[in-house]
Amino acid sequence: MGNSQPKKGSLSHEHTLFHQYVENRSTKEQCDVCNEEIYGVVYACEVCEFTRHASCAQKRMPLEITHPSHSMHELQLQDESSDFLCERCFCNSRGPRYHCSSCLIDVDLACVSSNNDQSAEGDEGQIPEGRVRKRTRHFSHGEPLALFKYRKTTQRYELDCSWCDKHLLGMSYGCFNGGPYGCKFFLHESCISKISKRLLHPFHPLHHLFLQYSNVGYRFSCNACKGSISSTNLTTYYACHKCSFYLHISCARLQPTLKHKCHEHDLTYFSRSTEECFNCHACGHDCNAQKNKEGAFYRCVQCNFNIHFRCLPAPPVGKHRYHRHFLILHHGVIEDDSGEYYCDVCEEERNPKHHIYYCKKCTYIAHVECVLKEVSSHLNIYNISKWKLAMKKMISDLFVLATGF
Ligand SMILES: [Zn+2]
Ligand SMILES: [Zn+2]
Ligand SMILES: [Zn+2]
Ligand SMILES: [Zn+2]
Ligand SMILES: [Zn+2]
Ligand SMILES: [Zn+2]
Ligand SMILES: [Zn+2]
Ligand SMILES: [Zn+2]
Repeated sequence: MGNSQPKKGSLSHEHTLFHQYVENRSTKEQCDVCNEEIYGVVYACEVCEFTRHASCAQKRMPLEITHPSHSMHELQLQDESSDFLCERCFCNSRGPRYHCSSCLIDVDLACVSSNNDQSAEGDEGQIPEGRVRKRTRHFSHGEPLALFKYRKTTQRYELDCSWCDKHLLGMSYGCFNGGPYGCKFFLHESCISKISKRLLHPFHPLHHLFLQYSNVGYRFSCNACKGSISSTNLTTYYACHKCSFYLHISCARLQPTLKHKCHEHDLTYFSRSTEECFNCHACGHDCNAQKNKEGAFYRCVQCNFNIHFRCLPAPPVGKHRYHRHFLILHHGVIEDDSGEYYCDVCEEERNPKHHIYYCKKCTYIAHVECVLKEVSSHLNIYNISKWKLAMKKMISDLFVLATGF
């Protein structure tokens, strides 16, 4: 095998390559091209027993090929790092790919090599001209969505569902159109049916909200997160035009959960937001100024009432009658990689990125609101001196628990 990259022709490697994802530092295996440690999206040949970084595998492949599965056009090798959908296996991938500029489709390096073994394939392996294969129209997005099999391709970030905000898993719907800064609209297969055209939402209890496409050139912001709803005709959002009330699809899943004496309506936890300013009702500072976990805040969307998490009198140590140990207020905890996280008090789902009350010893985890409900029924947390006394007692109890005295 020569060192210079062939410009055009058949694939230089005669065996089928396999697409793999290797977690950083999980293996001591080396890339046979650059001798560096193997990680990320890699391609392997089981016959020749080599593993290569995607970027290194690409260096040994021709810049342009004609492929039996798409013989009407030439495919060009593209060295881009963005996510793409492989039109042959219908899995997502990242890094170098073969691209057809007429049909705007991509094929990963494994699938492009797989026809070497079976040169005569049936119709199943054929990629039809045009973007038609396995795509469906759904009212949640302006372009047809592809049903694909999600696979992890980087350690740092994964593709998240635009409805529930969790990482994709298994079969998913997505739009990869528009290149690296494109739609990035993805849904779990199970989430697509949760999106409705009409919605009665606690953020705007007076009227129904309707799912809309935005008009080109028209710009407005989401009443929940204050982030802009961009003016492409692909973006869908919920709207009550009578009241100029707008809601991102991703913000529609937010629900008020915390009943607290500081405000007449239930409050919603916001952990992540845009650059917008939300003034804290308690301290007067911008709730959104800090981008870390401490910057989390509760908000009543109807009233534009905001309060820092740290300004809310939530005791750092709580107690719930369902659990015999004290619970410590803690940043989000991910106790396993199941992707499903629940509150041990109400057994409802919880967001692993949100604050919780936590007993580390038993991995007992509870919603803040579930513990606060209990705490506030036992003592008035606005009565600071009483609260301090209770805290003192809790801390001395904790000390006894920890030391055995
Ligand atoms: Zn390499
Ligand atoms: Zn593929
Ligand atoms: Zn083509
Ligand atoms: Zn989802
Ligand atoms: Zn929003
Ligand atoms: Zn309205
Ligand atoms: Zn504050
Ligand atoms: Zn309110």
